[in-house]
Amino acid sequence: MKTSFQPTLIAVLVAGALLGCQPASKPATDAAVAPAQAAAPTAEEAKAFVAKASEQTRKLLLEVNRADWIANTYITEDTEALSADYNKKLTEAVVALANEAARFNDTQVDADTRRQLDKLKLALTLAAPKDPAKTEELAGIVAKLNAMYGKGKYTNAAGKEMALGEMSAVMASSRSYDEQLEMWKGWHDTAAPMKPLYVRQVELANEGAKELGYADTGAMWRSKYDMDADAFAAELDKQWGAVKPLYQALHCHVRAKLGEKYGTDKVPQDKPIPAHLLGNMWAQTWGNIYDLVAPENSDPGYDVTKLLADKGYDELKMVKGAEGFFTSLGFAPLPETFWSRSQFTKPRDRDVICHASAWDLDAKDDLRIKMCIEKTGEEFAVIHHELGHNFYQRAYKHQPVFYQDSANDGFHEAIGDTIALSVTPKYLQQIGLLEQVPDESKDIGLLMKMALDKVAFLPFGLLVDQWRWQVFSGQVKPEQYNDAWWKLREKYQGVSAPVARTEADFDAGAKFHVPANTPYTRYFLAHILQFQFHKALCEIAKDAGPIHRCSIYNSKEAGTALNAMLEMGASKPWQEALATLTGKPEMDASAIQAYFAPLQSYLDEQNKGRQCGW
Ligand SMILES: [Zn+2]
Repeated sequence: MKTSFQPTLIAVLVAGALLGCQPASKPATDAAVAPAQAAAPTAEEAKAFVAKASEQTRKLLLEVNRADWIANTYITEDTEALSADYNKKLTEAVVALANEAARFNDTQVDADTRRQLDKLKLALTLAAPKDPAKTEELAGIVAKLNAMYGKGKYTNAAGKEMALGEMSAVMASSRSYDEQLEMWKGWHDTAAPMKPLYVRQVELANEGAKELGYADTGAMWRSKYDMDADAFAAELDKQWGAVKPLYQALHCHVRAKLGEKYGTDKVPQDKPIPAHLLGNMWAQTWGNIYDLVAPENSDPGYDVTKLLADKGYDELKMVKGAEGFFTSLGFAPLPETFWSRSQFTKPRDRDVICHASAWDLDAKDDLRIKMCIEKTGEEFAVIHHELGHNFYQRAYKHQPVFYQDSANDGFHEAIGDTIALSVTPKYLQQIGLLEQVPDESKDIGLLMKMALDKVAFLPFGLLVDQWRWQVFSGQVKPEQYNDAWWKLREKYQGVSAPVARTEADFDAGAKFHVPANTPYTRYFLAHILQFQFHKALCEIAKDAGPIHRCSIYNSKEAGTALNAMLEMGASKPWQEALATLTGKPEMDASAIQAYFAPLQSYLDEQNKGRQCGW
């Protein structure tokens, strides 16, 4: 993903090394071998434990955030080492606390205490087995896989070493079939050595998940969504079913255009698209090939980058402008420390991580963004997105520490993106950047650009965890890993491996989130939810126009409704948070359908006479 917020506790943790001093705890399901126990823990003890765990976690998070901030904005060996130390300390503490929380599995406690205990237990992405040797082995594999991904390099025929960033840039801009293929194969081949480690990691993590009472790690991940794990999987299928026709229309049109560009021998018009031709290493967003599919006569006639320059916007003024969006909704201005402590521009004299992120250091008022702002229209939208995270963080700061997160892990990104959806030509006109809003005939270009990123992403956002769930459950065995990966990529995305692959390859491992053990379903959720939020807010703001032209700028009513959901944090099931804003406790893909309706008509027209599908 292009942008992110500084992950909170819930998002950040993978199993670290367990300490010898970790409190011994047995899951309730393991009673047969449980040691003789003292009296069962009481509800009062559970409450006291939650209070103690909250205080300990709050202190550790503040330390971690400070250490991470300087490690990100002043990269040296020392700041990296300090950051690693503090993160290790936090992880170890939470592993111990999560195990201790399991002590109260059978204790009758009030709903709020139960929810906080559950949040703590589910803070772990991978559960470590209790056997200390296995725990150490798992921690070692986690670190090794991360490092292998980070160090992945391809050496080209000329002997030049290329890292992912450089290869991605070639994928984005090259229009040579063979050059893109070289990058694609070069990168995917770097993942093959990860496979034996990954296989072992699956075994160990499943053992840990079973000890906590889950069927396997995938079931544990699915249980974070306030509903039955199987019902959640069915819900995802339902949402995908609703957006599939839109995706298939886009796929059909893009395949036709790629056929014109590369020849239908290379891009057969009745088969999946070769996965290396879509401008992105994983074919997950296609915006980089906009030039190949741009609709005719759809140039909106302005360029935000140029408008910013014409109106004398520097980096600070861009951030002030984005803050103005939120204050127009009724949110209080950002605190003075935001302006003095954020990193807006790339420092001249030291290395920093430029990847845009939004931070909440102390769950009080110490909000910051970290960017290396370029004075472009795209970055102007990114600033709005990042501030969306900041205003979310501030809205839920009064919640207990285990609730200081979005309603589910899809909500945080969805909110940032929702705000960015309001950066429309109408909004640009309202803030005095644009003289005149182009007429609707020019909307198709903007919608196409948006769809190449947001609609194209949907099947990929779904399939990464479909694969992992099958792997964790044992439905897919190690000798079927690659085959299963490509079956899913063909089924959902309609893309195929551009060269023959075997089980010696480990193509799933070439995607960061697999070796890094970051659940991926959140991105699919975010892509559905953001349009639902946007539509609800536009209705509250009484915006009359079509939803893709709407901006909620200046609507205090929309701001009030948004804040009511944001301030809940993770304190209630996400369905309740969703209903607070939209009136309905369910995800609903009709908003994304409505947003892209004009594009769907355009695509259907273009696709007449073409054979769609694969
Ligand atoms: Zn983000």
